Amino acid sequence: MNAPDRLPIPTIGSARVFDRRCEKRHDAAWVDARRSDSQSRFLLLVDLKVAIESSADRSRAALRWLSLDEVTALGADPTEFVLLGSDGEDRTYFAVGLAAASVDEAALKPLVDLRSLAIQGAIDPDDLAIAGAARSVLGWRDLHRCCGCCGGRTRARDAGWRRQCWACGQSYFPRSDPAVIMVVTDGERCLLGHEHRFVENLYSVLAGFVEPGEDIENAVRREIHEEVGVEIGAVTYLGSQPWPFPHSLMIGCWAEARTTELTIDRSELIDARWVTRAAAQRMLRGEHEEGIIVPGPHSIAHALIVSFAESGA
Ligand SMILES: [Zn+2]
Repeated sequence: MNAPDRLPIPTIGSARVFDRRCEKRHDAAWVDARRSDSQSRFLLLVDLKVAIESSADRSRAALRWLSLDEVTALGADPTEFVLLGSDGEDRTYFAVGLAAASVDEAALKPLVDLRSLAIQGAIDPDDLAIAGAARSVLGWRDLHRCCGCCGGRTRARDAGWRRQCWACGQSYFPRSDPAVIMVVTDGERCLLGHEHRFVENLYSVLAGFVEPGEDIENAVRREIHEEVGVEIGAVTYLGSQPWPFPHSLMIGCWAEARTTELTIDRSELIDARWVTRAAAQRMLRGEHEEGIIVPGPHSIAHALIVSFAESGA
């Protein structure tokens, strides 16, 4: 069976509503003017939890954008604001990261864990992409306050997208960690696994980080062999998704199995199994006879399972 050309449904990608204005990050006068512009809006993250507005039953949520007066009142340092971008009206948006110890959390609630919001699917994909970028850069900032070369303090540069050591001048940039996530198929079946950290009855495609010095295809082959002992032949790229926990880039692939016997690494997986196309379709519909569920919409894992379920149809 041939791999599809691309993922069949959209996943969380780059936000479509913002221009990132990366060409302006180096323009200190422009950044300064926008940071102090009363029309600008600010997304607050407290210990990387994001401020939202939600419906009474918490079934729908949207990002809560604060005004300049509101973030100023919180004592936020303007030099640490991270430029997120501008919209079609040329209003500019920033992310502001604060520590819980420095603010009155109760006044800012609800503050939510972005991963839970992403898994629930209770927020617009564009909002999730914006908050994901903010969380990634602020999380990186929190771990790079000091220089790895000399131990000196680092300062924000380029509207938060670079940090530079005041002592030795070394620069540090936000990073994305590549990870492969793959639907393994033997033609009529695909391989799903249940990890220790998953909620009960959740099965998903397998995933793992790309190691230094490794290409995508061989990362897929190594991960699958390590986790379930299956040999992989052809690997086809289908699409990608940023996953800001803390700063991964999920590279979605279709992988063709050359062997089917499973030798499960129990330190990684509680279970793994081959699943027929019909069974995968029942899991996606929430009608599987054992109550097995799969990751929710907008996730690349969901899109990869759909790509298998719809293939050969
Ligand atoms: Zn240094």
